[in-house]
Amino acid sequence: MLRKFLILQFYLLFLIYLFCFCSKKKGNNIERRDEFLSRAIEFHGHLGPYLVLGLKAGLYANRVLGKEPLKTEAFIETKATPPQSCFADGVQFSTGCTFGKGNIHLREADGLLVIFRKDNQELILRLKREIIKEINSLPSKEEAWDNLAEGLYQRDIIKIFEILK
Ligand SMILES: [Zn+2]
Repeated sequence: MLRKFLILQFYLLFLIYLFCFCSKKKGNNIERRDEFLSRAIEFHGHLGPYLVLGLKAGLYANRVLGKEPLKTEAFIETKATPPQSCFADGVQFSTGCTFGKGNIHLREADGLLVIFRKDNQELILRLKREIIKEINSLPSKEEAWDNLAEGLYQRDIIKIFEILK
């Protein structure tokens, strides 16, 4: 009887532990990111892979160079029309480099490259060819674009960009 009781108690404790561990993990990782991404979507007007790519590049630049919107300059080279140009909004939202302040520049080019400059530091990121292929292979359904955008948001920066400098 006592043995059965102990086994039951152990089993219950294990379930409680499992429940706490899972809900904690969910809360920590996703809620904080979701809020930032939600505000970016509100700013840009919709979710898309290029918006997310701009956010990822900008967040990485903030981490490496330090976020200082008045001291940083961003130079983007990509197509000057959507969806590629949506990248610029991701960079604006995350770094605070804005077209209004004149410290973000967009130059028409193939592929996607971004240069961040702050003081004497420079950071250059180039979008990996396989990511461009992944985006181009999507069906034009909005849902597929949203799913890829969410996936890219969770992906490690080195799997998305070549860090040239
Ligand atoms: Zn867009």
